[in-house]
Amino acid sequence: MRWSERQIAMLREMGIRLWPAANDAATQAATAPDRGLAGNAASAADAASAAGAALAATMPAVAERPVPLRAPAPVPRSAPTVPAVSADASAIGLLDWPALRDAVAACTACKLCESRRQTVFGVGSPQAHWMIVGEAPGEQEDRQGEPFVGKSGQLLDNMLRAVALTRGEAAPEHQVYIANTLKCRPPGNRNPLPDELAKCEAFLVRQVQLLQPKVILAMGSFAVQSLLRSTEPVGKLRGRVHRYQGVPLVVTYHPAYLLRNLVDKAKAWDDLCLAVEAARGSA
Ligand code: URA
Repeated sequence: MRWSERQIAMLREMGIRLWPAANDAATQAATAPDRGLAGNAASAADAASAAGAALAATMPAVAERPVPLRAPAPVPRSAPTVPAVSADASAIGLLDWPALRDAVAACTACKLCESRRQTVFGVGSPQAHWMIVGEAPGEQEDRQGEPFVGKSGQLLDNMLRAVALTRGEAAPEHQVYIANTLKCRPPGNRNPLPDELAKCEAFLVRQVQLLQPKVILAMGSFAVQSLLRSTEPVGKLRGRVHRYQGVPLVVTYHPAYLLRNLVDKAKAWDDLCLAVEAARGSA
């Protein structure tokens, strides 16, 4: 297939070079001696050809081949009132989108409520086929009330754009919904504490139930800990399709990690391509 200038720019942004100036991923896979990052040439080539296929034809197929999901939790006709303290998982499990957002905004279940500027609920269409789960809001997110708006967010958006995905307006199969394991910023961007993750978990569980995504991309160790209950490193869990509430889940590196470890961008690209296949029901 042929790559558009925009797609080439996106791959370059991710540290993946196409070979040569000739703009043909199939030819690259067969002939290129030097197309990837040092130490990752093969996976970058695989990723490029997989991405080529994805970009060419797969996104519409996402809608055509839905992955079977667990029956959705019932959504009450009139939303119940927001629980006063939000750690009540059974009450949260009954909320619809607006009530869930209100519950997050009112949450005082852990100490993070004392230092946050605002809660960061999530962004994207409730019809999105993709769900991306990050760690916790940073300073910019705490200011703006939206996940991934800082440097990590720019990298994430570029990666998503390369496989025709967006948090903005698009057909549902091209849309991502982005949420974090924690809805409040830990002071000084410290790591989330187990108690905070536990108290916030019911919100994320409900977001997944309401969204019913075709695939979840879990970015970084805290998203993995929350969703898969695993303390295995990301490097050990990536490369295969897991399940969360019956939804295919792909583990990948956190964009902030990728900004510091450029060599792993090619692996993240592989992960994204695996998630494209999982969303199609073919991985
Ligand atoms: N890192 C995250 O994990 N989430 C954000 O929203 C921003 C940075």
